[in-house]
Amino acid sequence: MKRWLALEKMTGDRQHVGEWAVLQGPRGQSASIICPLCGRLAALLDHSIDRMGYVTPSVRCPYDDCSWHENVQLIGWGDAIQE
Ligand SMILES: [Zn+2]
Repeated sequence: MKRWLALEKMTGDRQHVGEWAVLQGPRGQSASIICPLCGRLAALLDHSIDRMGYVTPSVRCPYDDCSWHENVQLIGWGDAIQE
């Protein structure tokens, strides 16, 4: 069974490691996340996100010196994109 890492939505101006935010991408709404391992920003532009916030395919940190790679669920995604 696939293991999903639950990521919380960013609130206000404070950014915490492992959180996500809505990102307006070239093909519609996407998300950015703060890498839970290295704390740098990653955009999920090449991923699809379903109504429950499940992201496919799995997410890798874009930085070569970071090994983070997980299946993630964006908690609150469905509500966020209706706003
Ligand atoms: Zn990273």
